[in-house]
Amino acid sequence: MLETPDYRALLATAVDEARRGLAEGGIPIGAALYAGDGRLLGCGHNRRVQEDDPSVHGETDAFRKAGRQRSYRSTIMVTTLAPCWYCSGLVRQFNIGTVVVGESVNFRGGIDWLREHGVRVVDLADPECIELLGGWIAGHPQLWNEDIGED
Ligand SMILES: [Zn+2]
Repeated sequence: MLETPDYRALLATAVDEARRGLAEGGIPIGAALYAGDGRLLGCGHNRRVQEDDPSVHGETDAFRKAGRQRSYRSTIMVTTLAPCWYCSGLVRQFNIGTVVVGESVNFRGGIDWLREHGVRVVDLADPECIELLGGWIAGHPQLWNEDIGED
């Protein structure tokens, strides 16, 4: 039987990515796509600001960096923040089996919708993730609203 990977250890990669984004002057959200056995397939971070590209979210960046995979059923998308609708759609489109979120306090995104459709969602309610993004949002409310598509 396959052992469940340590989700908090996997989250550390996403947090590193979020901090990298912050250091680049971007929105601190990071993600990583793992194989079911805990092998890292790809990781990335939001680069809306850095590349003037609203389609580069942490999840989409990690997904693209992972390259082609035959099946996503056993993969784990780990992200510092609950995925937005766009990234939740990506999870459904490719049948990613498990989503691990660092937190859903600052943004709840599509996690209820994902659960309703059979995706396993693990919310770690990680204080570091809550603080990292929460502090950033307080200082950049307009940029945050732009990122989540709010006027
Ligand atoms: Zn997203």
